[in-house]
Amino acid sequence: MSQPTVEEFARFFLEEYELASGPIEESDEIPGELLKRAAEVGSYRLTVPAEFGGYGLSVSDYLPYLEAAARGHGSGRMLVHLTNGVWRPLSMFGSADQRDLITGMASGDVVVAFCLTEKAGGTGRDMHSVARRDGTGWRISGEKHLITFADRADHFILVVATDDRRARDSLTAFLVPRDTEGLEVDATQRTMGLHGTGHAWLRYQDIEVADEHRLGALGQGLEVALSFLDYSRVSLSNCMVGLAQRALDEAVAFAKRRVTFGEPIASRQAVQGHIAEMHADVNAGRGLVREAARLCDAGEDYTAAAATAKLFCLNMVGRVTDLSLRVHGGFGYTTDAAIERIYRDARGFWFEEGTAEIQSLVVARHVLGG
Ligand SMILES: Cc1cc2nc3c(=O)[nH]c(=O)nc-3n(C[C@H](O)[C@H](O)[C@H](O)COP(=O)(O)OP(=O)(O)OC[C@H]3O[C@@H](n4cnc5c(N)ncnc54)[C@H](O)[C@@H]3O)c2cc1C
Repeated sequence: MSQPTVEEFARFFLEEYELASGPIEESDEIPGELLKRAAEVGSYRLTVPAEFGGYGLSVSDYLPYLEAAARGHGSGRMLVHLTNGVWRPLSMFGSADQRDLITGMASGDVVVAFCLTEKAGGTGRDMHSVARRDGTGWRISGEKHLITFADRADHFILVVATDDRRARDSLTAFLVPRDTEGLEVDATQRTMGLHGTGHAWLRYQDIEVADEHRLGALGQGLEVALSFLDYSRVSLSNCMVGLAQRALDEAVAFAKRRVTFGEPIASRQAVQGHIAEMHADVNAGRGLVREAARLCDAGEDYTAAAATAKLFCLNMVGRVTDLSLRVHGGFGYTTDAAIERIYRDARGFWFEEGTAEIQSLVVARHVLGG
């Protein structure tokens, strides 16, 4: 399957996919036909290595594709963002059988969800999900929530505690098949925005999981999680840039067509100030994301650069969507305006894959030399 151009990719997400946004908003589901079309345009293959049927794009070369998808419906960018990230832990830590799944992920035939967050416990040392040795296998108990695409995932990367020490190496990851007896997937969790992204609860009590489903070594769960999360901070920040650019584009188009007191509002200095601030903010975010991607591609340590980009972009996408909504006037507060959906979708970024407060901790540790 040949690699699409960025223009072809953008056309799919901003025209064909966008046409389905009304039904997705209402039903909270991505139509099956659209998922197939997303696979046909190569959405799931972009960063996947060639040995698994992917295009093997570097992070820097991938950014324009993801930004294009992020200008469209939130569920579309989530498809691209997640599938181009979640193969990484399988590639780095997986057994031969687990790595074989990556080919199916690239074609869209296999969906893998990443499961860390718990309602009862925190992440890391405070995790409540536990796995206990049972003969040659494991018994796993606990719950997760807010798991993206859990509604249709075939496998779950489950990070759980394998001892009570609450140490850095107390966590272990498992790649648990959906049909594991006793694993309940409750896809009734509804989110403010990002409709169609199938968030769900997972519940499991003493489920039996064979040792061959362990992903990585015993105690390596945190590394497995971070192999996804570090890269993902760059990818997610780029999604924020794409959505903020869309919010700006919507504000510009509206400001040019909305006439008050005989003049388009785009001719008013107050509105021009909003547009200029949004433009500067989006471009500053894009610059930080490109720098983090460059370091990542060069094999340098990019943890602090990725957290810096994410911290800035989290705040940036909030400011830009706020200003865009204001430029739209009351019309922007109605579901007839695209900014209404964009505004809701942007608020998900506050939490997705780690909050601003946690990015601040990472950045401060770097700046203070800790
Ligand atoms: C759209 C969306 C998609 C998601 N997809 C997934 C997914 O696929 N898989 C998955 O596992 N999770 C997913 N999540 C969950 C997300 O990763 C968590 O919501 C996020 O990491 C925050 O964790 P929490 O909700 O437990 O917040 P909490 O940890 O309860 O935090 C609550 C507040 O306290 C602050 N806080 C907490 N600890 C500290 C601290 N030590 N220092 C300072 N402040 C602190 C936080 O910043 C926050 O403001 C998703 C969330 C959203 C919104």
